Amino acid sequence: MKVILSKYYGPCFGVSSAFEEAINAKKNIKILGEIAHNQILINKLKNKKNIKIINDISEVNKNETVVIRTHGIKIEDFNNLLSKNVNIIDKTCPKVKIVQKIAENAEKENKFFVLIGNAKHPEVIGISSRCKNTFIISNEKSAKDLFSNIKFECNNFIVAAQTTFDSQEFEKICQVIKNFNFNVKIYNTICNDSLNRRKEIELVSNFVDSSIVLGSKTSSNSKNLFKTAQNFSKYSVFVENPEDFNFDILKNKEKIFITSAASVLKETVLDFLNRIHINFKKINLKQII
Ligand code: SF4
Repeated sequence: MKVILSKYYGPCFGVSSAFEEAINAKKNIKILGEIAHNQILINKLKNKKNIKIINDISEVNKNETVVIRTHGIKIEDFNNLLSKNVNIIDKTCPKVKIVQKIAENAEKENKFFVLIGNAKHPEVIGISSRCKNTFIISNEKSAKDLFSNIKFECNNFIVAAQTTFDSQEFEKICQVIKNFNFNVKIYNTICNDSLNRRKEIELVSNFVDSSIVLGSKTSSNSKNLFKTAQNFSKYSVFVENPEDFNFDILKNKEKIFITSAASVLKETVLDFLNRIHINFKKINLKQII
């Protein structure tokens, strides 16, 4: 069996930096929410005695250290933490911070801010809290509904996207918005890391008989990556945990491609490779460079 490994396997720099900071912490720390959407990664953090994952800032006390996850938090929560006199380790991904800044500028300039993303996602909740006049849309229909019902005096709009939003969907939504001819400035804030992984699948799918995506069902990165695999590959499989995977389904495959979403640790991918090796004995492994 030929196995082709993604050039990008393992976590993106945002997740990697937050995870390394937390797992290597020597003192007691509290992490506000899940550092990234991946259960294996979260379990590793939970296993450390000095780490506590909390869900609300009321659980952080004076002089304690709190880590802010890659998705960022609401501005109200951030300001509350500042006023509590706690040590803040802000691991909001720099790419998410760019979108937060765009929202803050829209607020300062008294413009309307349109955020393309999933309204329930923590990143979107954090970004949208930075501008009072925010509208969250997620597809062409919601864009049409919003812009055709506009009765505002101000028609100045700033548009940006959740960093992990599907790029093709983003383009379609932007076209709908442009057709309304309002005064709109659009920022494409989709993260390159997600784009690169998806483009790689598109290219490699032509040369393999199956694509395997390691990820988490709760991660939008993972879901989008798998959607791309389903669109372009002859056969695609989603793997959440290598331990539970039924390797029999790969029995007749000759050439497989393995990639991972941005929240998957390298060791999870290597564990999966090792299990392939154990199950199929003869494998010819190559990594894309
Ligand atoms: S996927 Fe991109 S935006 Fe999200 S944490 Fe990773 S580097 Fe940052």
